[in-house]
Amino acid sequence: MTAGTMPLAHIGIVGGGQLGRMLVQAAARLGCPCTILDPDPDCPAGQLAAEQLVGSCHDADQLRQLAAACDVITYEREDIDSTALSELAAQGHAIYPEPRVLAIIQDKLTQKQYLQQRAIPTAPFVALDQPTRQACDEFGYPLVQKARCGGYDGRGVQVMRSAADFVHHLPMPSLLERHVPIQHELAVMVARGQDGRSVAYPPVEMHFHPEYNILDLLLAPANISTDQAAAAQALAVRVVDTLQGIGIFGIELFLDAQDQLLVNEIAPRTHNSGHHTLDAHVTDQFEQQLRAILGLPLGSTAALSPAAMINLLGAADYRGTPVIHGLDDILAQPGVCYHWYGKYETQPQRKMGHVTVLNPDLNHARTMTIRIRSQLQIRGTTHG
Ligand code: ADP
Repeated sequence: MTAGTMPLAHIGIVGGGQLGRMLVQAAARLGCPCTILDPDPDCPAGQLAAEQLVGSCHDADQLRQLAAACDVITYEREDIDSTALSELAAQGHAIYPEPRVLAIIQDKLTQKQYLQQRAIPTAPFVALDQPTRQACDEFGYPLVQKARCGGYDGRGVQVMRSAADFVHHLPMPSLLERHVPIQHELAVMVARGQDGRSVAYPPVEMHFHPEYNILDLLLAPANISTDQAAAAQALAVRVVDTLQGIGIFGIELFLDAQDQLLVNEIAPRTHNSGHHTLDAHVTDQFEQQLRAILGLPLGSTAALSPAAMINLLGAADYRGTPVIHGLDDILAQPGVCYHWYGKYETQPQRKMGHVTVLNPDLNHARTMTIRIRSQLQIRGTTHG
């Protein structure tokens, strides 16, 4: 790319959700116009982008159009047509992370096999075309069944603590994974540039909603030792270096009861566990993604403050146009950074925004976010 000529590049983004929206915001800061491909003409990213192609992320023609209109393509979700993207990459279009990396990650089975073959620690597993009671019994309980494709936010994941839980199995091609006694769920965001250099953010600690499996509370930095943090960063960088990926990656890790680090899964994109970087780090994950895919120097991953983050989810039993309760009280509190995704419709548990609280005392930030979660409610115009 020719540094200095403006605009730096026209970015094509496959997917127009909140991750795409925050990427468009970062691109605007760098002086890069964006075109979004998303089926929803009102999608969060499309509202802010220079242009939107309204179409499916699985439509090869639309992906070709996007490639023709843009200098570089990236994506904000995994559930897209990696075969069409591979063909475009083979024709010389710049697509990052490369579609071959996306293809490995899209299928949880090929992702796990990839890790296992390269001796990257991950929970033991077996592949299963169709889960049967016998296969689960033979594997042994407790186990975690994971759908190979299409799962997110815990959809497509079924914990079976004993044979009695087989009734809840998912009837689809899957893998069975050993249930890990988890001490901490961690995530490390890693960016790797076109020159092969990587930078890693400090590990964060993720707490999930026990019922909905959506990230409930994020604490940055994670409450682990300096050695454990360094080991988590080194393992996450090793994963991205092994993939030779270019872009930003969210590496989800388990620290188990024996203090062993295991890779749970890889996201070849920005991640919910990196949202605090918008307010708490010198360079946020979205700008970092752009720097990586544009061949610019990667930014500093240094933290400016400890941070706690919560997702703002649509309240149970409400749908329709969002109605926010308690916003004034929240915004009046020091250290509160509020982010709204612009979705025109709320649904129960839908991610509508997030709040990051900055405070030199992480415990204080944590207490504040928990209070904010009960003070701020996203209801809708339709109840019931
Ligand atoms: P998703 O792609 O939907 O985020 P994950 O693989 O991250 O699915 O699983 C969702 C959650 O299920 C994890 O955050 C973790 O709490 C739990 N989980 C997943 N795998 C295991 C495992 N092997 N042992 C114990 N808990 C697990």
